[in-house]
Amino acid sequence: MADKSIPTIKYTKLFINNEFVDAVSKKTFPVINPSTEKKIVDVAEADKEDVDKAVAAAKAAFEQNSEWRTMFASSRGKLIVKLADLIERDQEYLAFLEALDNGKPYKDALMDVGFTVNVFKYYAGYCDKIHGSTVPSDGNFMTMTLREPVGVVGQIIPWNYPLMVLACKWAPALATGCTVVLKPAEQTPLSALAVAALAKEAGFPKGVVNVVPGYGPTAGGALVKHPDVNKVSFTGSTEVGNKIMEVVGQSNLKRVSLELGGKSPLVIFDDVDVDQAVEIAYRACFTNHGQNCCAGSRTYVQSGIYNEFVKKAAEIARRTKVGDPFTDTTDQGPQVNQEMLDKVLRLIESGKKEGAKLQTGGCRKGNEGYFVEPTVFSDVNDNMTIAREEIFGPVQSIFKFDTLEEVIKRANDTTYGLAAGVLTNNISTALAYAKSVRAGSVWVNCYHALAPQTPFGGFKQSGMGRELGEEGLKEYLELKTVSIKV
Ligand code: NAD
Repeated sequence: MADKSIPTIKYTKLFINNEFVDAVSKKTFPVINPSTEKKIVDVAEADKEDVDKAVAAAKAAFEQNSEWRTMFASSRGKLIVKLADLIERDQEYLAFLEALDNGKPYKDALMDVGFTVNVFKYYAGYCDKIHGSTVPSDGNFMTMTLREPVGVVGQIIPWNYPLMVLACKWAPALATGCTVVLKPAEQTPLSALAVAALAKEAGFPKGVVNVVPGYGPTAGGALVKHPDVNKVSFTGSTEVGNKIMEVVGQSNLKRVSLELGGKSPLVIFDDVDVDQAVEIAYRACFTNHGQNCCAGSRTYVQSGIYNEFVKKAAEIARRTKVGDPFTDTTDQGPQVNQEMLDKVLRLIESGKKEGAKLQTGGCRKGNEGYFVEPTVFSDVNDNMTIAREEIFGPVQSIFKFDTLEEVIKRANDTTYGLAAGVLTNNISTALAYAKSVRAGSVWVNCYHALAPQTPFGGFKQSGMGRELGEEGLKEYLELKTVSIKV
């Protein structure tokens, strides 16, 4: 059983040039506990002046002869391993922070820390294996390519997986030799500040990593506009992703990668074991309270098993233990804030009004904390609002289908393309679906099979670029061609 007492919050200031400092304006903002709706702590609020300071620090750390630029690639790898080890050492404290401001169950937060460690270790090994190539170019030349760090990177992250997304951004950026200014989400800045302290303890030179908590349009906007930032890597909503593209187009054409929203289909054929399928579909949809970019939020079930599936899906959702993230038996904590609670409840109401059949849930749970009852709708049709909008909450929408051809069309009828799943014992059906579905990750007879080694990212309006795997490194590299006259 996790200790329920709130841990000391050690870091609440901006982290710039290896120091924790107040905001220039001295402004702070409150971080709220979503389980109690009470303030946890005030955190320094970065604005443009602070972002300018952080970018200047990151730029100085990236100067040609700086300690960071002249460090052996293998030594960079050792530093990243050290950081991973320190995160592992402090895993319980970090999981506490994560459960506290995000509201996810502590046991899930511990798993997030484990994934975070693995991502850092995976990329640490790459530092001295980033090769160019030799090219048999026409003419009397010896030609080679070099892969070089893109430079100062601005990274903006959401609140749903604060540590894991930080790792997906810092680890490849540091492995390639970039320097970083990170803006965590205003709802969940605590774990990023704690990891910044660990980066200092690990021995990263000053200015290599900087953390500037604050709001999106101010701190985030300043980072996206900044002329000395060479790349922006953003994870968040498609709406903000679009805004970022506009601003970048009007500033310095910095490189951009975007990891955005989703409305991912999980398709279940009637040759499967129904109990197992119900369990996989439940986890696909309800993991992290549905606050998951690749949530399997559209569950398509073939007509032969449809009625049985719906009944069992409602039963398993009803068994979910919703409550205090620090109680061992809790499966689902609160949604992250009032705004998300309101959004989820509004979408649930739209489902009821538009004629979907409510099988279970459908309401707020209790009146303190942003808790929502796990909700299952059946008889959902493709045009309903709950079929089209990303809900980002514990709401499963179940659709009926008959044939493979039909379901592929319907699965692809979305502006998103982040992930997709299929459950079947027929290999041809699985492969036909995997080949036809327009999504960055396809999971067969499983869901959420994410690993540090596997590239992850979106088709269509789910994003641009990839994180994780070798592809994730390339997002932080420029390619240079050197031709030598022989
Ligand atoms: P959001 O877009 O509102 O905010 C994300 C981050 O962007 C926050 O740090 C926020 O402060 C900042 N931001 C907001 N406006 C900004 C602006 N104008 N300029 C610069 N920065 C700005 O998203 P959210 O509500 O925090 O997160 C939920 C969304 O994130 C969902 O759509 C989800 O699908 C998506 N998400 C995607 C992935 C992925 O890997 N594809 C992972 C996690 C979350």
